[in-house]
Amino acid sequence: MNKVIYADNAATTAMSDKAIGAMLPYLKEVYGNPSSLYSAGQVAKEALEEARAKIAKYLNAEPREIYFTSGGSEADNQALRSLALNGERKGKKHIISTAFEHHAVLHVLKKLEKEGFEVTYLDVHENGLVTAEQVEKAIRPDTAFVTVMYANNEVGTIQPVREIGEVCKRFNVPFHTDAVQAVGHIPVDVKADNIDLLSLSAHKFHGPKGVGALYCRRGIPLVTLIEGGAQESGRRAGTENVGGIVSMSVALGEACENMSANTEKLIKLRDKLIDGLTKIPHSKLNGDRNARLPSNVNISFEGVEGESLILDLNQRGICVSSGSACTTASLEPSHVLLALGLPHEVAHGSLRLSLSEYNTEEEIDYILGEVPKVIEIWRERSPFWEDLTTGKRKHFI
Ligand SMILES: *Cc1c(COP(=O)(O)O)cnc(C)c1O
Repeated sequence: MNKVIYADNAATTAMSDKAIGAMLPYLKEVYGNPSSLYSAGQVAKEALEEARAKIAKYLNAEPREIYFTSGGSEADNQALRSLALNGERKGKKHIISTAFEHHAVLHVLKKLEKEGFEVTYLDVHENGLVTAEQVEKAIRPDTAFVTVMYANNEVGTIQPVREIGEVCKRFNVPFHTDAVQAVGHIPVDVKADNIDLLSLSAHKFHGPKGVGALYCRRGIPLVTLIEGGAQESGRRAGTENVGGIVSMSVALGEACENMSANTEKLIKLRDKLIDGLTKIPHSKLNGDRNARLPSNVNISFEGVEGESLILDLNQRGICVSSGSACTTASLEPSHVLLALGLPHEVAHGSLRLSLSEYNTEEEIDYILGEVPKVIEIWRERSPFWEDLTTGKRKHFI
């Protein structure tokens, strides 16, 4: 296969050379079980604790507040299940969230609703943001917790987490944030941001898949989703993924140390893409232009199907997405774009391009050359587009 232009870094990223290198010794030489008492086990245990301290440092947390998990989804599940139980014990069964959360949060909330919890889903503004005032208005005496994601995985909007956390703190309501798209990409500080629980995942910042972490502020009880041994202070059983965890800590260090340089580069590439692609007639940028991840471009094009564009762009060596990878198998448009108030017809014709510092300006130029061609091809074939151009239907955008 020819070299592929990868612009789907919100789905997953390539591992960095350093992250791969950091993992290798723990696959072959230092393979001891961290729970074993002989030195080969204790060396692994030390590496694990070093990784914990490093991750804590970059979040401004304490090492004992970091629990390793199998990824972002598990961290979200454990956070929400814990906060629900803690609330229930105090007779509090009301939850505040948003309609644009990741499915790892939304599906747990749906289950909790079936189990007797009531969830207030805050209305998302058309720019893809919610406000701290909305959270404040929704808080009730029986509110068990608030969960609002840090940065959205589809439209890239960065929520006012610090302000939301401040409101939660003032009302003494625990606050969880799914920060999987934020950690390693924008500054995150659990203390300054008033965060009680936070989910992160290594494969979104050039670390390995299948490993992540939950930050849980000291004093907040966690439920155990996986029962067994006493690993992770008894909160998460199972022999630790030592190589993966060490590799995650190295990837996070690299991402944080290079954050300002990466951000500067990414914003240039992102803005070039946005400016170029929104020149296509009847297109619209989704999500706020400013409160947005440096890597995210999400644009709707009227009169096309996102899925058709993706397949054609794939033929041309470009990997992009039309929403979240989890929904590409279904015909429902993205729940995030619908939450922003886009009509179904427009939400269907959307592309998400998510960049990383590994992308080059030449790649952006190539994308800017190919996307308009592909849109032109599909619009020419579309009866819907014909209705729009002949005036039978009205343009939305
Ligand atoms: C990718 C992602 C997850 C899931 O993380 P996994 O490690 O793949 O389980 C959760 N939330 C957000 C916002 C994500 O982007």
